[in-house]
Amino acid sequence: MKQRNKYDLIVVGGGHAGVEASHVAAHLGCSVLLITMDSKAIGRMSCNPAIGGLAKGQIVREIDMLGGLMGKFADNAGIQFKILNRSKGRSVWSPRAQIDKRLYEKFVISAMQSTNNIDIIDGEVVNVLVSNYRVDGVTLRDRSNIYANSVVLTCGTFLSGKIHIGDRKIFAGRMGEGGSIGITESLCSLGFKSSRLKTGTPPRLISSTINWDNTEISSGDSSPTPFSYSTQEFNPPNEPCHTTRTNLQTHSVIKENLNKSPMFSGEIDGAGPRYCPSVEDKIHRFSHHDSHILFLEPEWLGSDQIYLNGFSTSLPEDVQLDALRHIPALKNVEFFRPGYAIEYDFFPPAQLRATLETKDVAGLFLSGQINGTSGYEEAAAQGLVAGINAYSYIYEKESLVLGRSSSYIGVMVDDLITKDTLEPYRMFTSRAEYRLMIRYSNTDERLLKISEKMGLLNSSLSKIINSRLLEKERVRSVLNVSIQPDSGSGIKNLKQATPAKELLKRPECSIFNMGLDFSSEENNDSMPAWAWNEMLLDVEAEIKYAGYIKRHIKEIEKHKNNEFLPISKMTNYSTFCGLSNEAVEKLTFVRPETLGQAMRVSGITPVDISVLLVNLSK
Ligand SMILES: Cc1cc2nc3c(=O)[nH]c(=O)nc-3n(C[C@H](O)[C@H](O)[C@H](O)COP(=O)(O)OP(=O)(O)OC[C@H]3O[C@@H](n4cnc5c(N)ncnc54)[C@H](O)[C@@H]3O)c2cc1C
Repeated sequence: MKQRNKYDLIVVGGGHAGVEASHVAAHLGCSVLLITMDSKAIGRMSCNPAIGGLAKGQIVREIDMLGGLMGKFADNAGIQFKILNRSKGRSVWSPRAQIDKRLYEKFVISAMQSTNNIDIIDGEVVNVLVSNYRVDGVTLRDRSNIYANSVVLTCGTFLSGKIHIGDRKIFAGRMGEGGSIGITESLCSLGFKSSRLKTGTPPRLISSTINWDNTEISSGDSSPTPFSYSTQEFNPPNEPCHTTRTNLQTHSVIKENLNKSPMFSGEIDGAGPRYCPSVEDKIHRFSHHDSHILFLEPEWLGSDQIYLNGFSTSLPEDVQLDALRHIPALKNVEFFRPGYAIEYDFFPPAQLRATLETKDVAGLFLSGQINGTSGYEEAAAQGLVAGINAYSYIYEKESLVLGRSSSYIGVMVDDLITKDTLEPYRMFTSRAEYRLMIRYSNTDERLLKISEKMGLLNSSLSKIINSRLLEKERVRSVLNVSIQPDSGSGIKNLKQATPAKELLKRPECSIFNMGLDFSSEENNDSMPAWAWNEMLLDVEAEIKYAGYIKRHIKEIEKHKNNEFLPISKMTNYSTFCGLSNEAVEKLTFVRPETLGQAMRVSGITPVDISVLLVNLSK
């Protein structure tokens, strides 16, 4: 493709962050150039063939509600859908899907190629052009410059990427694709700080070499829930996954070879994800466990290639094989490719504003794994935020900054810009203090208005969601009726007429067993079964949690004034009497934009905040 010399926006990288950033900016009206090292790998899933999961499923819903692509493509390419955590409280239920990776990539590439306003070129960016603290464009490896008003960098694990398999080292961004050098050096010469992180991936097994009779089947939900609000009737495949377990012989092979694992031996400097440990780490840290579960996940429908979830490793290939062949189901196993670890450069995200624009170079945005996160969903969400805010920057519109009480995306961005990044950041429900309020099932209510205001939703979807929310109101009003003791509802210990919504607070009562009729012409006609069911469950959840939610709302109100109190980026903290040295150092590096952000900077104490308040009010 012959590209122009000047665009509104250049997006560097065609991973999950780059795809959402390019698409949303183009949708909003920007001319976009997407530069990526391999245009055939746009939207590639580097690791597990799954989207969603704990807290990540909530993020995919939010991406969808803000006009992003991930949820729609996951619905179309999904081969097994499941709501996780059903045995726990409703606030932590999370949708997850097993994905046909090839199909997913196909959908993404086709969408990117057919979006007006996006040009795509294969190329490697080696330098970011900046003048007067504003970004001007980028330089490619062939030394040509391309100019833009704004640039979003989404380089994933590619910057100075180095793969480790035992003592084998490969310069790469991920297996089969070369790494990239230049951007780190370019940003560091402008004063940015970079650091190193690591992550790992398990081996891919040849399906025909697995003894399937020795595995357990794990299926999806029989009534599946999609990610996207635009999905109507939903009948995806329910392809089974399988499980097996490691045993003491597997563990002993791994223990004997721990010194050959660069991920474990300390040969790799960068920190890895504690929450997603390598199998070496698991066996060392949890040495009292005789066995660990392994999931055998197909990489696409009918795939001969199986992803061995739970066995991320950087041991030499022969050791990986030896360890696995002690498991009956894997006694004859062969690999398509071994597991490996990768280390790469990232930029501590405290250098960013809440819009994901860098604090020091106007118009330059960073999103995805380059910010120290891990995961497709985290990357896609940041790409979306960066793409929207790049558009807002170029056309001088209002920025998108989501709050911690409105979304997981808001929690993630706030954590990234205020907390130390000591290991790859992934989302958990426990990171969201208001998780009772930000359920996957009320994403539409939480984000519809903001999405409409920013022009992110097409009008037909907006109409559908508005009419579903009206239905939800109607269901709430049905719950205002009182249930009589003699109504035949089957509710125990009902001595006097009581409003249904009061009874629903009882643990034994469910919205489905109170003998109430919620049907109407509207839901009979247009609401798919999954949406109707999800809406009833969500109304039930908000009633059961009402007391806690009320407390949260009170707390949010209380902190409102301090939360948005602006702090100038020129603030000289060393002149503030009473601030500890650590606080001065942290605040000087992070340069929080509001008092709320300052309160959440790692290491900042309530005493530091009182000192800040006194000094700022002067
Ligand atoms: C080995 C491995 C294991 C992983 N394990 C997990 C896991 O277990 N769980 C999990 O949730 N996530 C895992 N991930 C992370 C997940 O793949 C990423 O978080 C996610 O893909 C990041 O998306 P991204 O858009 O930031 O970058 P990527 O998907 O990495 O895409 C980066 C893009 O940038 C392009 N690019 C890079 N540099 C340049 C340049 N200079 N010029 C032009 N283009 C450039 C590349 O070509 C690519 O298109 C793993 C990743 C790897 C590699």
